[in-house]
Amino acid sequence: MSSDSPANRYARQIQFAPIGSKGHQGITDSRVAILGAGALGTVAAEILARAGVGKLVVIDRDVVEWTNLQRQALYIEQDAIDGRSKADATCDRLKAINSNIELHPVVADVSSGNMNEILKDIDLVIDAADNFLIRFLLNDWSLKTETPWVHGGCVGAVGQVRLFTGTGRPCFRCLVPEPPPASAVDTCDTCLLYTSPSPRDRG
Ligand SMILES: [Zn+2]
Repeated sequence: MSSDSPANRYARQIQFAPIGSKGHQGITDSRVAILGAGALGTVAAEILARAGVGKLVVIDRDVVEWTNLQRQALYIEQDAIDGRSKADATCDRLKAINSNIELHPVVADVSSGNMNEILKDIDLVIDAADNFLIRFLLNDWSLKTETPWVHGGCVGAVGQVRLFTGTGRPCFRCLVPEPPPASAVDTCDTCLLYTSPSPRDRG
C-alpha cells in the first residue's frame, strides 16, 4: 500500500507503542514554536514536520549565509545567494516535506514586547536560539502561561538539552539565576575558544 493517507504516512510512529494512535493524535493536535532556525532549530523543525505536528511556527530574524550551509540542515546554496530569510526558507522546505501541516514563518527578533503575540496558542516551544537573554524571557513567559519549553544549546563540541515544564521548579532561573556577561557566553562565532585538550590536560 502506498498512499498519502495519514494511516499510511504515520504508520511507523503509530506502530511504535510509546506513541500509538493516541500519541499520534496528540502530535497532530499540537502547536509548536521553534525559536531560532539554525543548526538545532532546522533539525528539530524537520523532524517535527515529518512527525505531523499540526502547526509549526518558525521564528528567526536572520537570513541564510554561506557559513550556515555546513550544518543548518534545511538550507540550500540558492538561499545563501538570495539572502533568504531563514524562517521563510525553513517553512518552504517543510511544506515540501509535509503539505498537510500549518506553517507560519515569523521574521522577527523576539522580545518582551512581541512574545505574547508570537507565542499565542502555542503548546510547546523549542528553544534553539543563539541569544542567551531570550531564555530568561522565555522562562518567565513559560511560568506565566504554564507552557513547557525545551531548552537546547550547542557550541563547539558541547551541547545541552533540558525540558522545563512551565509548572514550577526547576525553571531556567533556578539553574541560571542571572544572565552572564556577554563576554562569558560563547557562540558559534567565538567557539575557537574550545580547542582540543593539550597533552598535559589529558587525564
Ligand atoms: Zn526557578
